[in-house]
Amino acid sequence: MENQQEQQQQQLPAMRSRFRRVCVFCGSSPGRNPSYQLAALQLAKELVEREIDLVYGGGSIGLMGLVSQAVYEGGRHVLGVIPKTLMPREITGEPVGEVKPVSGMHQRKAEMARQADAFIALPGGYGTLEELLEVITWAQLGIHDKPVGLLNVDGYYNSLLSFIDKAVDEGFVAPAARHIIVSAQNAHDLMVKLEEYEPQHCGVASKLSWEMEQQLGYTIKSDIAR
Ligand code: AMP
Repeated sequence: MENQQEQQQQQLPAMRSRFRRVCVFCGSSPGRNPSYQLAALQLAKELVEREIDLVYGGGSIGLMGLVSQAVYEGGRHVLGVIPKTLMPREITGEPVGEVKPVSGMHQRKAEMARQADAFIALPGGYGTLEELLEVITWAQLGIHDKPVGLLNVDGYYNSLLSFIDKAVDEGFVAPAARHIIVSAQNAHDLMVKLEEYEPQHCGVASKLSWEMEQQLGYTIKSDIAR
């Protein structure tokens, strides 16, 4: 009987995900604590095991480089979206996979959002925070309903999460919008939560009525929402 169970488990197909592509925001620096780099590699491993492709900011430096290299070596497609002005190798290093040049930072964020089915932020600095908060804001407005995950490695984001709780208490963030951020301390738990995520907030702008095409240069209005 036990043998039969073992055989069945061995025959199980590889873990499949509801996501085809995930966008990862993360530091262009590696961070001081080696646990941040380890978390970046563990996230890459989760993506590869679940057969998920990567969309990211296109650099090969810091945590960005670690995630992209590991996903690429794991055999998944890697798409780096990078503004032309950041393309010189001394700024971003040598990226792996497919590189999509865009005209600026706004186009980059819109393109990464359009390409991905979910977003994950690893530890990072201003750039990471800005990208994370923008996709949260877009979710709050109803521009997309893709899950947004925060990998809270060693409590790196505790103070951000406390601040957001304060913003809820003070009446600046709606309690339903607090649920937009899905957080976990390790990549496996985060992926499980993101797979189960159901949007609870109700946006003020319908996905279809959101006219960003002129500003962003897209032909299809609902591109980001997909
Ligand atoms: P930061 O958290 O400030 O290190 O910024 C990281 C985020 O900003 C990444 O997710 C990238 O999208 C973007 N970014 C910042 N610096 C670079 C760089 N030198 N090359 C490519 N992307 C960068």
